[in-house]
Formats: sequence, C-alpha cells, structure tokens
Amino acid sequence: MQPPKKIKKTENNTLETIWPDGEVYEVSMEKLRDECPCVHCKGETVIFSSYIPIKSPFKAPGFYEIEKIEPVGNYAINITWKDKHNTGLYSWELLKEISEKK
Ligand SMILES: [Zn+2]
Repeated sequence: MQPPKKIKKTENNTLETIWPDGEVYEVSMEKLRDECPCVHCKGETVIFSSYIPIKSPFKAPGFYEIEKIEPVGNYAINITWKDKHNTGLYSWELLKEISEKK
C-alpha cells in the first residue's frame, strides 16, 4: 500500500491524510486515540487467556492531543500523544480503516 502523500494536523483537532489516489480522509483525534492498536489499549489474546484492558473514564491531560508523529519504515506512523503514550503503530491500512469508521 502506498503511503499517504501528506499527513497533517488541522486546526479543528483532526488528522488529515491525503493519499496517492487523491482520496482525502479526516479523522478526529478522539477517534484516533480510542482506536489505538497497542496492547495497552486493545489488549491481546494469548493462548488460554486474554487480557482486556479496563477503559478508565478518566483521561489524562493531553490524552487526545498529538505531540508528534514519526514515520515507521514505509508502512506506518508512530504517534506520541501529549500524555506520553506512544506505543501505538498506525499502519496505512489502519489509518484508512479508522478514518472510514463512523
Ligand atoms: Zn495504545
């Protein structure tokens, strides 16, 4: 999958991605963070047991704010949130999937 041509933070606290085929997606930071694919947020299934994280209603300051975005190879971005959470890798596929989700 081709990487997006452009990834940028907009003024309305959304992330805009522009793809080589001309498609433009915009996704809110809330959605992006709530869909963080890392083990802490999404849990994991190990044989015979699964770990399901408890969603705390308390959100740390900066929970929905991006501090920085770094490319990972040519297939994903790593987002560091202002509450220092940075273990989620967003592949291009995942980015599109989250953006399309209602
Ligand atoms: Zn996470």
